[in-house]
Amino acid sequence: MKSAWEKTLAVIKKNVSSAVYNTFFSQTKADFADPDKVIVKTKSSFIKNNLSTRLKPTLDLALEEVLGKKLKVEFLVDQSIVLPAPTEEENFEFYQPKAKTLEANLNPKYTLENFVVGLSNNLAYAAAKAVLQNPGVSYNPLFIYGGTGVGKTHLMQGIGQTLLKQNHFLKVIYCPLETFMNDFVQSIQTKSTNQFRQKYRLVDLLLIDDIQFISGRDSTQEEFFNTFNALQIRNAQIVLTSDRPPHEIDKLEARLASRFQGGLMVDIQQPDFDTRVAILKAKSLERGEIIAEDCLTVIAETMATNARELEGKLIQIIQQAKSNNQPLTVDYVRQLLGKPEPHLQKMDYKKVISQINHYFNIKMAEITGPRRNKELVIPRQLAMYLLYEECKIPLQRIGQLLGGRDHTTILHGVEKMRQETQKNQQIQKMLGEIKQGLANQ
Ligand code: ADP
Ligand code: MG
Repeated sequence: MKSAWEKTLAVIKKNVSSAVYNTFFSQTKADFADPDKVIVKTKSSFIKNNLSTRLKPTLDLALEEVLGKKLKVEFLVDQSIVLPAPTEEENFEFYQPKAKTLEANLNPKYTLENFVVGLSNNLAYAAAKAVLQNPGVSYNPLFIYGGTGVGKTHLMQGIGQTLLKQNHFLKVIYCPLETFMNDFVQSIQTKSTNQFRQKYRLVDLLLIDDIQFISGRDSTQEEFFNTFNALQIRNAQIVLTSDRPPHEIDKLEARLASRFQGGLMVDIQQPDFDTRVAILKAKSLERGEIIAEDCLTVIAETMATNARELEGKLIQIIQQAKSNNQPLTVDYVRQLLGKPEPHLQKMDYKKVISQINHYFNIKMAEITGPRRNKELVIPRQLAMYLLYEECKIPLQRIGQLLGGRDHTTILHGVEKMRQETQKNQQIQKMLGEIKQGLANQ
């Protein structure tokens, strides 16, 4: 004989998609001790929240069909319930963690397991863990901010990766704000805003990277506000990163700023010395390189900088040692490190622009002027990148400094150079030499 709950589940199974059934309903037990009430138990509050809100009507209907009367339904999180293992068929259909990771647009490199935790980021890490305990409920949104290269994207993707590991039925989307914005604009052009909304509003976890670029984009702000609300009502978790706290984002609607501040805000600082050593150690081991601790110490001492630059320097040192056939000793590392990296943070923007002009042998009027020939585009975009990333000047202001350009042009330039610095060795070299020139001034 099937129990009342088994019968109810069988009815539900016919009425919902198998993904919804497997994610939420199959993960339950029920207690019919009271004749007028049923207590539905699950192991996770995430499932409980979904069942008690958007899936409640489905549940009510099925119960009524099976029992012939309306019951009061209560929900309870109970870790001790024993659930049947998924059937072969369910496993086959859904258990494809790798595919899920790719579908979510997550880079498998960025996990919480390989995120080095230290003084500079332990609060953000703890916040990420707390969010994963109770996604969509306790801290929504999680707003992570901090300078460039300190691990915001890594941590954010780690959250996505971990949530998918915990429950591979869930739907996760990671994307930079730019992608969200482009998708939105395109959906208007192709009259497919419904599809756009289905994509972004039906997820369980939405990860939007570099939200500061929403600055001044009025229609994107409006759409994001609506997306945000739609997700929050469904108890879906939202995680945002930014290079600055919400109140410092220029041209951000007050209602969005207050939404961003309404959950948990944490910052990641530049890594302190111990964290720098730990990051260098982890990154060299990931590459299968065993480097003496005192060499790593020298790098960490010389380079008081973010994780991205540390990693870049480490790779460069490993490669140089290999191509010169030199063992990595403290002296050799010192030699390769040369002068310490300059700090542009407090640097005058005029110096940065004039250094770029000097480097490319061009005039101020050319870099700020309207001409768009190839010889000017790269210097100009490098200027945008350095003024934004290093001098921390807002997009609008950079636009004014560079001859009255629109801030979206600046945004595009910054993004373009960001990508180039990741993969284009020539650009990396130019940037390094310009920075070195600034340090020598
Ligand atoms: P951000 O998004 O803050 O600019 P990223 O997340 O892209 O920075 O990090 C830059 C690089 O540094 C990545 O390769 C990332 O893996 C690495 N990184 C940053 N922080 C850490 C950390 N705490 N542990 C390990 N790697 C880190
Ligand atoms: Mg990032």
